[in-house]
Amino acid sequence: TTAPKSQIGLCGLAVMGQNLALNVAEKGFNISVYNRSYEKTEAAVTRAQKEGLGERLSGYKEVQDFLASLERPRRVIILVKAGAPVDATIKQLMEFMEPGDIIIDGGNEWYENTEKRKAMVAQKGLQYLGMGVSGGEEGARRGPSMMPGGSPEAYAPIKDIMEKVAAQVDDGPCVMYIGDGGSGNYVKMVHNGIEYGDMQLISEAYDILKTVGGLTNEELAAVFDKWNKGKDLASFLIEITSLIMAKKDPEGEGFLVDKILDQTGSKGTGKWAVQQAAELSTATPTITAALDGRYMSAIKPERVEAAKLYSSLNLNAPTAVPGVNKGQLIEDVAAALYSSKICSYAQGMNLIKAKSEEQNWNINLGNLARIWKGGCIIRAVFLEEIHDAYKRNPQLPNLLMDPEFAKKIAERHTGWRRVVSTAINAGVPVPGLSASLSYFDTYRRDRLPANLVQAQRDFFGSHTYQRIDKGDAWFHTVWDETF
Ligand code: NAP
Repeated sequence: TTAPKSQIGLCGLAVMGQNLALNVAEKGFNISVYNRSYEKTEAAVTRAQKEGLGERLSGYKEVQDFLASLERPRRVIILVKAGAPVDATIKQLMEFMEPGDIIIDGGNEWYENTEKRKAMVAQKGLQYLGMGVSGGEEGARRGPSMMPGGSPEAYAPIKDIMEKVAAQVDDGPCVMYIGDGGSGNYVKMVHNGIEYGDMQLISEAYDILKTVGGLTNEELAAVFDKWNKGKDLASFLIEITSLIMAKKDPEGEGFLVDKILDQTGSKGTGKWAVQQAAELSTATPTITAALDGRYMSAIKPERVEAAKLYSSLNLNAPTAVPGVNKGQLIEDVAAALYSSKICSYAQGMNLIKAKSEEQNWNINLGNLARIWKGGCIIRAVFLEEIHDAYKRNPQLPNLLMDPEFAKKIAERHTGWRRVVSTAINAGVPVPGLSASLSYFDTYRRDRLPANLVQAQRDFFGSHTYQRIDKGDAWFHTVWDETF
């Protein structure tokens, strides 16, 4: 037997695992890798050799040898499909692991599964972390944003490695200990919900500029590129959108984006986020609109039939608005996008806050915004502003209450309203932009028509109501003798 030589191990060498393993090796750590099917292990070793990292990455065919190659306490990151594959992998590892060893699940796992597993492995004296990893393939290879949650003692022995492996931004690495239990997975789930929202909002911006404004793909590429160079919207998703707009179809004439079927898939984290929002009585209308947008896109054949039905009734597909002021429209769409994003992030942050309070996770929202500044899919210059807002007031009830954001929305709301009403009048759906606008208008309204809802509830169900002029007392009225 050879002496243990790797500081960390990684189990599961598909897209994420292989790239993260190479990243760890590149940052100067020795890493051992293992995968259920040996071909992926061989592929990882070959790639490491090609990239000049062969000395620091060793592949193993047997779990036992893999674990024997690790320094103690053994630290093993799992990157396999969430659910049963994680259980199977843990079972295999546990057979040879010893008290004090640490398992870190880096997958998109449901947070309660992490909590169950943490308790289960604790019976054998093992430590457990659920660590959200964002950034896709590139992020994993170059530096992702990572959100580890679980017991703090489990994080301490991997902290130095993770801080080197993570994306680096001006004020540090894009990783921090999130909190106890499944908080790391939870925060990653909300990150993905926010990501859904961002993508939906950007797709609506694209639709308006193209359909109402009549912008060509070249013009669209230029607009997104310009936005990516400005302060408000500079972000990974805006950057890739510009590149997508400019991409020619490798299979034929024209642009690739125009040939892509308008049907989106999803893997579940967005749905979980919306379910959680309902569980916690927290409004997340923008994220919900994004999820619904994906569901509506999926019923393409039905939409094609509906388009035919309504065309026959003279309700035609939206077309460019004649005489539209393109420059103004572009400016307004930027204002709408930025303001809508503030609302969407406010919703996501409030969801995390609600859960953190329920679970006593003590999540620091400002620092969380900081670790999203680099590496992850929602990385954006704008996250610095969110970080600053929570620094100004860690108890901020809503980002919309931050004086800086409030000022920015006040400066942009006219353009935002213009875009939403133009789109609605033209028949271009803007579920995300309008959900954000209604969220904002609801939030800033001191009196809502909820008085009527309470009256109705009392009318038909004797649910009682409170009055604006009689303190905390509850009232019931017989509204009409005939009922
Ligand atoms: P994946 O396609 O989700 O999973 C493939 C890996 O799971 C392979 O290593 C496979 O082993 C292993 N596996 C499947 N069933 C197994 C079982 N029953 N027992 C043991 N191993 C099993 O891989 P991925 O895309 O790299 O994602 C890994 C995790 O990271 C997932 O939770 C994913 O949601 C999350 N994530 C992915 C991305 C991304 O951009 N792809 C981004 C962030 C987070 P075999 O090779 O033997 O089949």
